[in-house]
Amino acid sequence: MHDPWIDRLSDYLDGELTAPERAALEAHLVTCEECRSTLDDLERIVDTARALPPRPPARDLWSGVASRIESSRPGHDAHAVSDDGDGRLHRPGNPGGSRGPL
Ligand SMILES: [Zn+2]
Repeated sequence: MHDPWIDRLSDYLDGELTAPERAALEAHLVTCEECRSTLDDLERIVDTARALPPRPPARDLWSGVASRIESSRPGHDAHAVSDDGDGRLHRPGNPGGSRGPL
């Protein structure tokens, strides 16, 4: 199950979302544990990246971080990267569906 907000979390951390997007994402975070934990991971990565010395040995550190993240993820969600779904997820069955509300 792919959650469209997952893709926005790094934009959120970068301050690239508009105010309404931020508000919507924050509201979503209240109900979505996956986004909360992903955001938590991202924050840790960002902190780590900022703390890195301006020198290449970062590579070892980074792979350590990456494997920690990978191993902390529950395996069943490993394919969440695929880009299907996108919005359709939140729409209840609406076959043939171009019946506009107005
Ligand atoms: Zn979510």
